[in-house]
Amino acid sequence: MDATTNNLSINTQVSQVFSKQLNRYHKHPNPSYKERLTNLKKLEAVVLKYREDIQEAIYQDFKKNHVESDFLEVLPTVLEVRHAIKKLKKWMKPKNAGMPLALFGTKSRIITEPKGVCLIIAPWNYPFILAISPLIYALAAGNNVILKPSEITTHTSALMKKMIAETFREEHVTVIEGDVQTATELLEKPFNHIFFTGSPVVGKIVMKAAAQHLSSITLELGGKSPVIIDESADVNDAAEKITWGKLINNGQTCISPDYLLIHKDKKAEFVQNVKSRINQFYNQDGKGVESSNDYCRIINEKHYQRVSDLIGDALDRGAVLEEGGNTNSESNYIAPTLLSNVTLDTQIMEDEIFGPVLPIITYDHIDEAIKIIRSKEKPLSLYIFSKSKKAQKYILKNTSAGGTAVNDVILHIAHNDLPFGGVNNSGIGKSHGKYGYLAFSNERAVLYQRIGLTSAKPFYPPYDSKVKKMIDLLLKWL
Ligand code: NAD
Repeated sequence: MDATTNNLSINTQVSQVFSKQLNRYHKHPNPSYKERLTNLKKLEAVVLKYREDIQEAIYQDFKKNHVESDFLEVLPTVLEVRHAIKKLKKWMKPKNAGMPLALFGTKSRIITEPKGVCLIIAPWNYPFILAISPLIYALAAGNNVILKPSEITTHTSALMKKMIAETFREEHVTVIEGDVQTATELLEKPFNHIFFTGSPVVGKIVMKAAAQHLSSITLELGGKSPVIIDESADVNDAAEKITWGKLINNGQTCISPDYLLIHKDKKAEFVQNVKSRINQFYNQDGKGVESSNDYCRIINEKHYQRVSDLIGDALDRGAVLEEGGNTNSESNYIAPTLLSNVTLDTQIMEDEIFGPVLPIITYDHIDEAIKIIRSKEKPLSLYIFSKSKKAQKYILKNTSAGGTAVNDVILHIAHNDLPFGGVNNSGIGKSHGKYGYLAFSNERAVLYQRIGLTSAKPFYPPYDSKVKKMIDLLLKWL
C-alpha cells in the first residue's frame, strides 16, 4: 500500500467510525442506568477473562514482570470499574439546587447527560489501565468512544482492540490503532470530549486541535514530581517507599518521584537506605539487579538513549554518582541510579526523567526547597516526608500540585474518591471516580417554573421608576 492509499484508508476509517458513532448518539442520546451498568459489567468481565493475556502483552511490550502488571494495571482497572458499578446510580441521580429567594416558586436541578462521541488518546507507559480507565468513566456517563492506544506498546494495543471488538459494537466503542498520523486524523473530528493522557508537548497540540471544534478536553499530562524529605522525617521509611515508587515500571510512571529535595543532615542516611532497599527488592540472590526478573526495562532505544544522556550530562556538570550508573544498550537496561550534588542547570533538572534515576539536591532551610519547586511548572504530584504537621501544612500552603501524598508516594492515585489530574502544565481537568464521570458528562442546569408565575415580571420593560426601585430593593435586601 503506498502512502496515499494508506492516508486514504486511515482517513476513511476514522470518518466512517466517527459518523457511525455520531449516528448512534443521535438515535440513542441518553442510555439508561441499566444499560450503562450492563456496559460496565461487560467491561469488567472482559478484563477478568483476559487477565493473563494482558500481563503477557505488557511483558512482550517491555519485559515487565507479570505480577507487577497484575498489580499496577489489571487490579486497579478492575477496582475502578467495580467502584463505578457501585456508585453509578448515585452519580446519575439529579441533584437538587435549592431555591434562591430571587427565584421564588421555582425548582432547580442539575442533571448529567452524556457528552456524546468521545475520543480517548492513551500513552504507552501503563498501556492498559491508561486506556481502559477513561473508558470506564466514558461508559458510565453513557458515551460512545473511539480509543486510540499508543503505537509504541503494540502487543497491548492489539489485545485491547480484540477485547473491545469482542465486547462492544463498533458504533459504540472502537479501538483505532495508529501513530501520530492516525491521532491527527482523529483530532480533525468534532468530538464532544477528548480525554488525552501523554506529554505536555503533545497535550498542547491536542488542545489546539480541540479548539477548532471547541471540544471539551481532559489533559492528563506529566512533568517533574518532586519529593521533599525534611529534617524530622523517618528516613528509613521514606527511602523504602521512594525506592519502590521510583523503580516500579522502571521509573516510567507519570507520578514517579522525579527528583529529591532533602535536608542536608539526612542525605547520607537516605543514600545508604536506598542502596539496601535496591538490594532487598531486586538483588536478593546477589546476582545483580540486571538479572532480576522483577526489574523491568526502558521501553525502547530512543528513551534508553535519552535517559542515559541525562545521566551523562549531570555527571559532566559535577553530579556525584552515589549508586548505579551502569547501562546495557542491548536490553535497554539502566541500573537504579542515585545522583547527588546535582545542579539546577542540568538537563536532568529540566526534563521529566521517566527512568530509574533519582537526582538529589540538599537544602538548609525548607524555603530553599520550595523556591526550587516554584521555579518549575506546577507538578502532577508532590510528595512530603515529614513527621511535623506544621511543616506538612507549610509546604502544602506554599506550593501547588495536582495531588500530594504525605509520607508516601504514588498511592493517592489509588483512591477512587480523590480527583486525579494535574494543574496547568501537568494537566487540565480531573479523573477517577465521580470526577471521571463528570469529565465525560455535561452538567445540565434545569429550572422548573410555575405556569403564570415569574420573578422576572417586575423587571419587564418599559423601564420606568418602578423597575429601578425594585432593583434598589434587591441590592439592599438580597
Ligand atoms: P506522548 O504525548 O508522546 O503520546 C501520547 C499519545 O499521543 C500516543 O497515543 C501518541 O500516539 C499520541 N501522539 C503523539 N504525538 C501526537 C501528535 N503530534 N498529535 C496527536 N497525538 C499524538 O506521551 P507518551 O510518551 O506516550 O507518554 C509519556 C508522557 O505521558 C509523560 O509525559 C507522562 O508523564 C505522561 N503521562 C501522564 C499520565 C497522567 O495520568 N497524567 C499518565 C501516564 C503518562
